[in-house]
Amino acid sequence: MTERIAIFPGSFDPFTNGHLDTVRRASAIFDRVVVAVMTNTSKQPLFSASEKTALIAGALVGLPNVSVVAQSAALTVDFARHLHAQFIVRGLRNVQDFSYENDIAAVNARLAPDIQTVLLPAKPEYAAISSSIIKEVAAFGGDVSTMVPANVARALQQKLGGTIQ
Ligand code: ADP
Repeated sequence: MTERIAIFPGSFDPFTNGHLDTVRRASAIFDRVVVAVMTNTSKQPLFSASEKTALIAGALVGLPNVSVVAQSAALTVDFARHLHAQFIVRGLRNVQDFSYENDIAAVNARLAPDIQTVLLPAKPEYAAISSSIIKEVAAFGGDVSTMVPANVARALQQKLGGTIQ
């Protein structure tokens, strides 16, 4: 039988426990999940693509069918094809996410009718977590250790700790 491969694309600046929960749940649905660190042209990142990739790899322990790759200049559907992925996984936290993700899914379906988008609703305990809130809290010295993997919390501390008082 053909392997069912999903890509989970995102900016992951940084990777949070919400992202990790989505990956974990996707890993139980698909044979393989590839977390794809994409360049979001409208966001100025805190972490470089290689830093993000290393942090995500460090957070994926215990998930043998999940891997991470960085991709700087490709449409998500083209990158999915390149990886032989038949599915694109995205997370949904709220109605704003729904509206945005639904539009992207519709465009991607036009570009690549053979690739299905699968939207996974966030667990309520993660629904308020966003990378931008994490960066804001960490920049002001707040404790983000319950919201991001331990290696990400350390990296945020190194990058931002004490820079804004
Ligand atoms: P992008 O800039 O491509 O939206 P993000 O890193 O912000 O990248 O998000 C990647 C995906 O993860 C998106 O589908 C987003 O809705 C989802 N996501 C973000 N935060 C959470 C969370 N706390 N719980 C579940 N899914 C999330």
